Amino acid sequence: MAESAEQVHARVMAAADEQGRMPLPSVAEWDIFPWDVVDGALATKPLAPPAPEAPREGEDAADCRICTTDSARVIWSNERWRLKHLAERSGLPLVLILEPLEHLDFDDLDDAMAAEYGVLAVRIVRIVEGLPNIGRCHTMRVGDGATHLHVWFMARTAGLPSVKGSFAVDWDDILPPGPEEPWREDLAAVAQQLAAFDV
Ligand SMILES: [Zn+2]
Repeated sequence: MAESAEQVHARVMAAADEQGRMPLPSVAEWDIFPWDVVDGALATKPLAPPAPEAPREGEDAADCRICTTDSARVIWSNERWRLKHLAERSGLPLVLILEPLEHLDFDDLDDAMAAEYGVLAVRIVRIVEGLPNIGRCHTMRVGDGATHLHVWFMARTAGLPSVKGSFAVDWDDILPPGPEEPWREDLAAVAQQLAAFDV
């Protein structure tokens, strides 16, 4: 079972500075990070001028790191899809990635694959939102980094008012990872419940 809001809060406060703040995550250094500090006040960054779209990872399938994903991270798969966890635990209690086995982007899915994606996405959200201490499971496809479709399922803790909405993604980078055992238990629970649909 994932930690309760009280357990997460106590653990994070023990790791934070005297004001209760965690260090800035690396995303604050990214070019695409839209916020800046100007004269001591929060400000937006100027919009960068137009530029050609940068190539994404895996434009050539032979170079795709998702095609050769670490099978130890996969918690469920069938003949077309797999569900895996991140290489390392992160700030949210559970982050999962659904991806096709074949080197396909979102708009490459035929109707059968699209239909199966929809069914799987609903099942995964329903299962994760049914886990104790999980308030919501956000799901999103972005795809600006890699061509091989990878859909995010990001579970947030119930009862932590800071960690809500699209900012849960930022908190995933800000908060220190929780203990391994509850994470492993939840991964096993999702795998077992998702596999139960296969029979
Ligand atoms: Zn690929």
